[in-house]
Amino acid sequence: MRNNNKAFVFDFDDTLARTSCMVNVTVNGEIVKQLTPGEYNSYKLENGECFDYSDFDKIISPVLLETFELAKKVYAENHAVYVLTARGTRAKNAIVEFMSQHGIEANEVYCVGDSTNAIEHEKRVVLMAIMETYGKTYFYDDHGANVEEAKKIGVKSYKV
Ligand SMILES: [Mg+2]
Repeated sequence: MRNNNKAFVFDFDDTLARTSCMVNVTVNGEIVKQLTPGEYNSYKLENGECFDYSDFDKIISPVLLETFELAKKVYAENHAVYVLTARGTRAKNAIVEFMSQHGIEANEVYCVGDSTNAIEHEKRVVLMAIMETYGKTYFYDDHGANVEEAKKIGVKSYKV
């Protein structure tokens, strides 16, 4: 049984796994740019531009990263494991299945990318809710702004 002592919260892209999924930037439905998840983290839309996340419903050519080993280890120790990603909710099933295929039944997979608020804000809101339930909450993310926001609310946060 999972215990309520510690929660480990992991970003997905470039934290648990690297994939070849790209975020498209479109203008009037035409693709004008393609961003890696790393580029997407800090991309600001210009006038008329929209994000198109159609690649992100899927997990394309995944490579497990070192942080995935940590996730497996803490899962084996019966700690709660959460995924907290900037992908949209349409990606949830793919991530749940991916984690499961690699031996981890995540407590929850939170996809905050559909919000128009800043991702670091949305991630902080989810982390605040998780913190309510656990003695200690740990957070791992490759994006500095997400890590800095999480630190402000007292989550032990690590940039991978
Ligand atoms: Mg990431």
